[in-house]
Amino acid sequence: MRGAEKQFETLVIHHGYDTTQHLGSLSVPIFQTSTFTFDTAEQGEARFAGQEEGYIYSRLANPTTRALEEKMACLEGGEAALAFGSGMAAVSAVLFALTKANDHIICSQGVYGCTFGLLQFLNKKYNISHDFCSMETEEEICRLIRPETVCIYVETPINPTMKLIDLEMIVRTVKEHGIKVVVDNTFCSPYLQKPLSLGCDVVVHSATKYIGGHGDVVAGIAVGRKELMEEVAKTTQKDIGGIISPFDAWLLLRGIKTLPVRMDRHCANAEKIAQLLKKHPLVSKVYYPNDPDNPDYRICQKQMKRGGGLVSFEIKGTKQDVQRFLNRLQLIKIAVSLGDTETLIQHPATMTHAVVPEEIRKSMGISDQLIRLSVGLEAWEDIWQDLEQALCSISQDAFS
Ligand SMILES: *Cc1c(COP(=O)(O)O)cnc(C)c1O
Repeated sequence: MRGAEKQFETLVIHHGYDTTQHLGSLSVPIFQTSTFTFDTAEQGEARFAGQEEGYIYSRLANPTTRALEEKMACLEGGEAALAFGSGMAAVSAVLFALTKANDHIICSQGVYGCTFGLLQFLNKKYNISHDFCSMETEEEICRLIRPETVCIYVETPINPTMKLIDLEMIVRTVKEHGIKVVVDNTFCSPYLQKPLSLGCDVVVHSATKYIGGHGDVVAGIAVGRKELMEEVAKTTQKDIGGIISPFDAWLLLRGIKTLPVRMDRHCANAEKIAQLLKKHPLVSKVYYPNDPDNPDYRICQKQMKRGGGLVSFEIKGTKQDVQRFLNRLQLIKIAVSLGDTETLIQHPATMTHAVVPEEIRKSMGISDQLIRLSVGLEAWEDIWQDLEQALCSISQDAFS
């Protein structure tokens, strides 16, 4: 089925798989196999020589994984995609492929903790240096560009403060320098944001989050131009080997079928919860991309279809009040990760960002009072009721 002719909602279900080639099986079969037999020695030779199409060994390619890669390439509007055993396997495979010793990376201020760790590893091992940049203006980025700069790495929205980066501005600023733009699109999924269509070079995902969507698999995806993805496939994916299992690829294929439906519900619920939090007397700040009071609202309107499923907020009180609030929740689960059917809540200062030194954390806008909510697919009334009763009980504590 050709990608360009159908709508996103149809492509998530049908693209990249032909039932007639698989005995009519409606669902993509799970090719739970490590290796593939050759009919003859000559066929084996031809496959290894690249003269004949066909499977060899599942670290190199697997039909279930291929179906997932086909689908993700289409949904992100890229030429090719590769699936990995985790988001970090995807991020590291791409960064290893794009850099060599002594190169330089520009990175958005506030990236996923393990991406931060990977940048430090690359620096220590291979002298690949990096600079963090708020990426608010072109000038700020231009000041950091050096002859060795090969890549600009961007997360938007930034976790957990929901700051946005203008991707079109980034592309405009660095294109003439031949710098590759890599975007971690985990928080949006291709339903809400399509960086490749804005001229970015590579999209990476923790498919653990919205792509899978059900909190039952850890996986990653990279999407980009064919030559680059082929290079990643033949080097950093094949030789470092962080591949996805066929069963996990199947779980993602299953999750993706409902991606647009889930994302719309995540967004609708999050919009509602953000509005209600804004009106609550014990909530001092609410961070949501698609909120007209958000300083980056203009960027959201430009590059995101809706505001996403994550809402961060600050409550009035101490760290102990925050912990008391979390402990009072009944429906909402205390957990890191995001994008699941269940509403999840976490405290960045003591959980996801605990390793960031306090001073840097504060400068990133992560106070002890900041809470991140991954709004799930439950009825918003029930999510709100749980938040409200827990907020209510801290206010009672404060007066008792
Ligand atoms: C979770 C996450 C990652 C890492 O993905 P894993 O699947 O846990 O390896 C990378 N980037 C972002 C934005 C994430 O939320």
